[in-house]
Amino acid sequence: MRLTFLGTGTSQGVPTIGCRCEVCRSNDPRDNRLRTSAMVEIGDVRLIIDAGPDFRYQMLRTGVRRIDAILLTHEHKDHTGGIDDVRAFNFVDFPTIHRVDIYATDKTAACVRKDFDYAFAEDKYRGVPEIELHTIERNTPFKVKGIEIVPIHGQHSDRFEVTGYRIGKLAYLTDFKHIEESQIAKLRGVELLVVNALRWRDHMSHFTVEEAMALIARVAPQRAFLTHMSHDIGLHAATSDRLPKGVELAYDTLSIEINE
Ligand SMILES: [Zn+2]
Ligand SMILES: [Zn+2]
Ligand SMILES: [Zn+2]
Repeated sequence: MRLTFLGTGTSQGVPTIGCRCEVCRSNDPRDNRLRTSAMVEIGDVRLIIDAGPDFRYQMLRTGVRRIDAILLTHEHKDHTGGIDDVRAFNFVDFPTIHRVDIYATDKTAACVRKDFDYAFAEDKYRGVPEIELHTIERNTPFKVKGIEIVPIHGQHSDRFEVTGYRIGKLAYLTDFKHIEESQIAKLRGVELLVVNALRWRDHMSHFTVEEAMALIARVAPQRAFLTHMSHDIGLHAATSDRLPKGVELAYDTLSIEINE
């Protein structure tokens, strides 16, 4: 199994428009963060977690020609804004049309239907995205092409829920602020854990570095990566030095093999 980080930035991305801070002006490519997304490849099955506004460029940069499914974590635009661009995958073998399977909880699926209503209309116009939307249950594992996926339920804020995913020894959580014991139990035995960490200072709807580290300590994976970072987290190189062994900052295009 292979995990590739397609984007590791918070909702505004890094650099942030108009910002002149040292992170936004950095020449280190690891300080350039597209909106958070990841690709998981298991054999020849390719899953994409989230499709934000940078989805098109992320697919081009990775050279991907075919995907098996998109798993959505929640309905925020930095995770769903690029869904229209699945059209490219629909028509890649034209005249054969490949529908793209998208998996999400009922609430997130409802937002996708609303935001991309033209793709779900009775009388569609030509060239709209061809999407097969699958509703998943918060506590029920499901399968995509024979691969078992375990949803990890969390709270993003008082208003928003979020879903992380466990696939074998990998677990990927983004945009979490609270996670219950019953869900932490689902992470037992995970060897590679990805957790969101916005910055060092507190935030109402995202884990800080310390909160992410507390969860990592509980799960005790072999390796952990932080993602969904803002420019406030500091320069990649300097911030990496502050992290304990086994915890690393993810960066865009980083790709890791996970032994099964
Ligand atoms: Zn986000
Ligand atoms: Zn900045
Ligand atoms: Zn969010």
